[in-house]
Amino acid sequence: MKVKFMGAARTVTGSCFIMETGGHRFAIDCGMHQGNGEIERRNWETKIYDAAKIECILMTHAHIDHAGLLPRIVKEGFRGAIYATPPTLDLLKILLLDSAHIQEMEALWKTRKHLRHGGNDVEPLYTRKDAEDVTRYFKAVEYDQPVTPFADMTVTFRDAGHILGASILELGVTENGKLSKLVFSGDVGRPAQLIIKDPTVIESADYLFMESTYGNRDHKNETDSLNELAEAIACSYRHGEKVIIPSFAVERTQELLYCLHLLDRDGRLPKDMPVYVDSPLATQATEIFRKYADYFDEEAKGLLKKGEDPLTFPQLHFTRSTEESMKINTSPGPAVVVSASGMANAGRIRHHLRHNLWREGASVVFVGFQAQGTTGRRIVDGAKMIKIFNEEVAVKAHIITINGFSAHAGQSQLMEWLGHFRSLSLQVFLIHGEYSAQQTLAGLIHERYGFPVTIPDYLEEITLKPGEEIERVAAPEEAAKRIDWNFIMLEMGNRLQQLRERQARIEEKGWAEQSEVRERILDLNRRLTALISEL
Ligand SMILES: [Zn+2]
Ligand SMILES: [Zn+2]
Repeated sequence: MKVKFMGAARTVTGSCFIMETGGHRFAIDCGMHQGNGEIERRNWETKIYDAAKIECILMTHAHIDHAGLLPRIVKEGFRGAIYATPPTLDLLKILLLDSAHIQEMEALWKTRKHLRHGGNDVEPLYTRKDAEDVTRYFKAVEYDQPVTPFADMTVTFRDAGHILGASILELGVTENGKLSKLVFSGDVGRPAQLIIKDPTVIESADYLFMESTYGNRDHKNETDSLNELAEAIACSYRHGEKVIIPSFAVERTQELLYCLHLLDRDGRLPKDMPVYVDSPLATQATEIFRKYADYFDEEAKGLLKKGEDPLTFPQLHFTRSTEESMKINTSPGPAVVVSASGMANAGRIRHHLRHNLWREGASVVFVGFQAQGTTGRRIVDGAKMIKIFNEEVAVKAHIITINGFSAHAGQSQLMEWLGHFRSLSLQVFLIHGEYSAQQTLAGLIHERYGFPVTIPDYLEEITLKPGEEIERVAAPEEAAKRIDWNFIMLEMGNRLQQLRERQARIEEKGWAEQSEVRERILDLNRRLTALISEL
């Protein structure tokens, strides 16, 4: 059998692995590529997925980096079944529609820009209609109930403890009369996460495809998140300012509500400090959580049994309209604002940051992973100025990162989960991680457990033959074109030299023109300094 890595290979996003076995072809996940322009171009190059020839798709969970290309794949001719747990399917309905809406808005914005430059209309990656079409192929599967999409392949969904409905997939594949067991970890949750259960322990596999998002670090101060949140709230409350929390709509927002519920119960959330969930998507997701309370962990179920709703408290408001959202910033006084997107690069959160980032006494609390290239990552990395809606905003608010909310296992938790495997012949493939994190984790796995570890590259194809060495076919050169750094550096040097040569000409200009040139050079200089400080 063969597996081809369509994404989440030496990167975190774009999870999709296409398997071929005994004349069948199917996929695990169908995620969107997120990051810089170069990475996101992969979303448009979906011909290589050969959608019409994918028989079925097994979904680990509803996050966009695992599911965001489903509408595109259906649009391109996929007609098989999409298997996932019932909560995943419900979450997919709202998340894919939201994603399609973002795609449509982006295309509209680009079209306007193009028309101004005499260009043509820009097509969206997919539309809301495409997203609706996906639901026709949904097939619900409960945890721990094996299903057989076709003869010679069974799959069992196990609770991954990552977000509601998230799964680890255990596959049994028979080829040439030999049964192999493959495990796809999906995203492995952090044990002791609020609301949902701990990741299922798996003890055997021949091939394990494991995520490695936190392959090189642990979550610090895991147990203090409730206190850290309480401190941020108390501080901004004293200053009469707001606490802004960029948060993923699904899971993280509900965990935050749970925490705020606990703080309120302990008298640590001021009665006159309103809490706004300002994200229509988060509001819908919270309703889905209520529907699937059966999937909660014992602690959350216990509260419900006592008649205590862990997802609410008196100060809580869900805003619906844009007007309500805008009113949050026009009304002075302390408040907590939970809004999406979680990495602050899209959505309503940008308005709240623009209004509050420059205010001393305000707090911005990060509760999730911030990917490279996002606004969130730049703030967390200590940028002094941030560009929001084409405007530079100074960073004066307290910037706080709370690690205890992560929905991903940290390094030692991944190692512990892996430690349960008893199969001596286990082969590990690290996926879903930045390359440096994967190298660190690979070293650790090798040292502690002695399992062979492979870090597949984008579009690499690997042949798995039970009892034999794996065969790797490297990605074709065009998959990730080599970046010619020598050329880029030389070019930069040349430009600087040309600028120097023009100094005399600049000095001949009038003072106003000279000051204009100086302004532009200083701006370039600032941006270059910011870039250098990030490297
Ligand atoms: Zn995830
Ligand atoms: Zn993921």
